[in-house]
Amino acid sequence: MSAVNITENFQKVTSSIPEHVTLVAVSKTKPNELIQEAYDFGHRDFGENKVQDLTAKAEVLPQDIRWHFIGHLQTNKVKYLTPFVYLIHSVDSEKLLREIDKRARNNGRVQKVLIQGAISSEETKFGWKLEELSTFLLSGVWQELANVEIVGLMGMASNSGDTDLVRSEFRRLRDFRDEHQSEGLELNTLSMGMSGDHPLAIEECSNMVRIGSTLFGPRNY
Ligand SMILES: *Cc1c(COP(=O)(O)O)cnc(C)c1O
Repeated sequence: MSAVNITENFQKVTSSIPEHVTLVAVSKTKPNELIQEAYDFGHRDFGENKVQDLTAKAEVLPQDIRWHFIGHLQTNKVKYLTPFVYLIHSVDSEKLLREIDKRARNNGRVQKVLIQGAISSEETKFGWKLEELSTFLLSGVWQELANVEIVGLMGMASNSGDTDLVRSEFRRLRDFRDEHQSEGLELNTLSMGMSGDHPLAIEECSNMVRIGSTLFGPRNY
């Protein structure tokens, strides 16, 4: 038995979020045994933020797991993910999007992706600046990329106890989504919210939450 009670934690979290919200269990730094326990509980969506960890885990864990890549992605590592990964949450540049398209084409797949929008006032280095993203989306250039499907947006709010600030950051992404939603570009997935802030994110229309420590216990790096 592990020190964390996986079944209890998953029961608690799944019963606390609405049914239309997809729970991505962030298993980064956690051993395969804990992921297997969650799998045996019935969970299938897991998130990792390092390419090497994700591919190593995918190799030995059940094949029907839906793997979500949630970390910063370097273009030279895209090729390790596109053969099988379910959803890449963290596309932050046109260059990266084009590389995913190219590699997915080689794999004979259409890769589902989210664009990570920069919404946090603290961590401006993460994500695509919304003004630039707007220009890109309105340009329609993404239509040429037949092997990527942009299904929505991802955002990380400031790591702050200021709930007004956090809420306004989530709302900014949601408003951006609503403004850029169109026929041919259906940004239906809003991946927002982690252990500390997912209730706020869900209030701001998140329908995919990425939760790690509440499910698997704190991480020791
Ligand atoms: C680690 C991580 C999470 C989960 O964080 P917790 O606070 O443990 O729930 C969510 N999203 C991203 C991008 C992460 O890197």
